[in-house]
Amino acid sequence: MSISQLARSIAESPTLRLNEEARLLREKGLPVTHLGGGEPKNKTPISAILSSAARLTNADIKYVPTDGIPSLKKAIIRYTEENYERMVQPENVIVSSGAKQSVYNVLFSILNPQDEVIVLAPYWVSYPEMIRMVYGVPVAVTPEDGRYLPRMADIERAISPATRAIIVNSPNNPSGLVYPEDLVAEIVRFCERKSLYLIMDDIYHKLVFDGRKASSAYKHASKDIESSKLIIINGISKLYGMTGFRIGWAIANRKLVEVMNNVQAQTTSCTSPITQAAAEGALTGLQSIVEGLRLTIENNRNVMVQELQSFTGVKVAKPEGTFYCFPDFRAYSGKSVELSNFLLKKALVVTVPGREFGMEGHLRLSYCGSVKDITEGIARMKWALDPNAPNEIYIGDRKLVRDWL
Ligand code: PMP
Repeated sequence: MSISQLARSIAESPTLRLNEEARLLREKGLPVTHLGGGEPKNKTPISAILSSAARLTNADIKYVPTDGIPSLKKAIIRYTEENYERMVQPENVIVSSGAKQSVYNVLFSILNPQDEVIVLAPYWVSYPEMIRMVYGVPVAVTPEDGRYLPRMADIERAISPATRAIIVNSPNNPSGLVYPEDLVAEIVRFCERKSLYLIMDDIYHKLVFDGRKASSAYKHASKDIESSKLIIINGISKLYGMTGFRIGWAIANRKLVEVMNNVQAQTTSCTSPITQAAAEGALTGLQSIVEGLRLTIENNRNVMVQELQSFTGVKVAKPEGTFYCFPDFRAYSGKSVELSNFLLKKALVVTVPGREFGMEGHLRLSYCGSVKDITEGIARMKWALDPNAPNEIYIGDRKLVRDWL
């Protein structure tokens, strides 16, 4: 069978693979604790269900405009106004099948082969692969050891004549950190000065803790939207825990949106109107759901950090948003893939290796599950690794004795 070189070179999604592995182990009856997940456990908001059901029951589910149904775009415009204090036009908005597709369509639309895109480690696993998928070159900027935010001087140093864009994800998957206002401001101004695209992946921007607010790149942009290369990505997956509905969007200048529209028209025609209706229902329904979810996750974050603080040798930067943290496990192993496999095999805990996010020696742990998942998961990890932890543990109804320390 002949497969293209490019397709062959694309890595599988480690998070989706781990979900599948965990599912298979659970099917075998093993009590797996999942700290690898990227979706909250809440039920879909009722306003989304009703709106989607209404669309379905009219039994008229056909193609809709490629860039999104007008009423959903209107709800997105209102959301942008409320959350970013920016008035945008329908021509600046394009709805896609998840923020993932939005990011991919942007990259497809702005890059020529060999163009470079700056990704800031630790970065979301999909950025480098998506850049490669459109024949671009990801250029990673890594912070100083022990830190999780880039230095502006390092970003500037990574720029070459081939650089076209910078991707910023704040609050950040996997570190959970929020980029400080002055760093966002510097990046926005730098991109304007150098005429670079700035892709702000804001998918977690409402999931911020301790009374903070994620900074908005718009606030620091001096250009109007039509002459700006600033692109904002957002969606409903994390905002309402509606991962399975696959709705995301991009906001950009209308010329770019037009091109993205052509790209999407030739690949997916349009996003399903059934799930677009659900997104509209969520965006126009009761917003206390978002705050409820945020509070639950903030509480989970507190539990996770507390558990990790008593884990011998593990260092963790306290997450300020998202549902991830990214502790440093180099006291135990510099090889995160091996460590993650060991934890799955011995302790039945799913973690995601830091190598996939451009930072070896770390593990991404998610706290979007239940408090019990967190306490149980960390207790098992301590049992497997920490010599100060008791060497016997119950996993399910089996008593296990540690014999490797
Ligand atoms: N960006 C980041 C940083 C993410 O973590 C994710 C989901 N894991 C996405 C984008 C994609 O979200 P969606 O489900 O809307 O495709």
